[in-house]
Amino acid sequence: MAVSDHVDLSTFMEGVKKRNPGQTEFTQAVQEVAQDVFGFIADKEEYHSAQILRRMAEPDRVLSFRVCWEDDNHNIRVQRGWRVQNNNAIGPYKGGIRFHPSVTESVLKFLAFEQTFKNALTGLPMGGGKGGSNFNPRGKSDSEVMRFCQSFMTELYRHIGPDTDVPAGDIGVGGREIGYMFGQYKRITNRWEGVLTGKGIEYGGSQMRPEATGYGAVYFLRNMLKHQGHDVEGKTAVISGSGNVATHAAEKVTQLGGKVLTLSDSGGFIHDPDGISQEKIDWIKHLKTVKRGRISEYVDEFSSASYHEGERPWGVTCDLALPCATQNELNEDEAKMLVKNGVQGVSEGANMPTTLEGVHVFHDAKIMYGPGKAANAGGVAVSGLEMSQNAERISWNEERLGEMLTELMEGIHGKCVEYGDDGNGYVDYVKGANIAGFKKVADAMLAFGVV
Ligand code: GLU
Repeated sequence: MAVSDHVDLSTFMEGVKKRNPGQTEFTQAVQEVAQDVFGFIADKEEYHSAQILRRMAEPDRVLSFRVCWEDDNHNIRVQRGWRVQNNNAIGPYKGGIRFHPSVTESVLKFLAFEQTFKNALTGLPMGGGKGGSNFNPRGKSDSEVMRFCQSFMTELYRHIGPDTDVPAGDIGVGGREIGYMFGQYKRITNRWEGVLTGKGIEYGGSQMRPEATGYGAVYFLRNMLKHQGHDVEGKTAVISGSGNVATHAAEKVTQLGGKVLTLSDSGGFIHDPDGISQEKIDWIKHLKTVKRGRISEYVDEFSSASYHEGERPWGVTCDLALPCATQNELNEDEAKMLVKNGVQGVSEGANMPTTLEGVHVFHDAKIMYGPGKAANAGGVAVSGLEMSQNAERISWNEERLGEMLTELMEGIHGKCVEYGDDGNGYVDYVKGANIAGFKKVADAMLAFGVV
């Protein structure tokens, strides 16, 4: 047994920071996991001596490539593409592709790391990966997006496969982009196989996949509330974002009798004190996916609402908060504001939307706080079910998938309680998710020896 294996948390984190200079999002994600895992493995020598956490925080590989494409004015454009294959101990690499100007290697490494734990929590056989590009689809024509997606896949196809790595959507990658990428994969390889999830229903997609992340985040919230004897009904909710996750979270809150007060995009947020009803949500879905417009247009259509340019919605008094936009969109001061205004539960539809300091505020105030890696796992869970359906060449109906999603979210909640209950009635869901996810992947890695 090597003495050097027993580094403490701060020495471990110093090493992570040194090996990943400037990668702040990645080191933040590792720190959040490491602080819980160090406690868990303190008396478990086998994880220490096998350097399990150190290995998990070193991606299996990071693929980086040039993506060249021609815009509508015949200018040659050059972007960078990546696929981070973090860990495939329990199944093929699995995780979305993000197209957004904020995408960097650090962002994708953090997402691939988080995905490893999230996917383990679902109980399905999926490893962790993530990919993307700094390409910005906003304002691009359909044919520009198509040419970019085809160029991206022309490199990516050689690194993925239904038993190797199965990408999906994420920010900036929805049904349209998945269609273009799947078409190009099929064209290059001459194989129809379940290499991507989030596909259209006509070509191997799964019922409930578009709804799964947002609905799942609300089911997770409902489970947290139920654990304390409460319910969503009659509660007000503040939601950020207005994409696939946010609109479906809003839909489910509304269906369960809650009232959604806000939605947002990078330009600002809308506040509708009358509540964002199903009819209004349908209008937003059309605005965002067909017209590809901005949330500010909501106030021209619905006069009950106000638009707050350049602001985030966390100052609006609410019972429930669902950050469904992007990483680090809810900081310490905003968390304090939510607590001061009486928030009861927070469920993250986005990945790592709350900063480490913000998380501490929620924990100190004993607020029910469901971190993204547990709360938003419904999306990738239904992706796992899409993989199963493709492998068997069958498709299950909406009702069955709806039930499976509800059960999966209940199972994830249960695992968090198992490892996160502090014994005094408070559940630390971050700790629960981190330890449950870690344990499953770690035990598989131990079985493989030194690889
Ligand atoms: N991008 C989603 C996530 O963050 C979904 C990934 C997938 O379906 O593979 O979990």
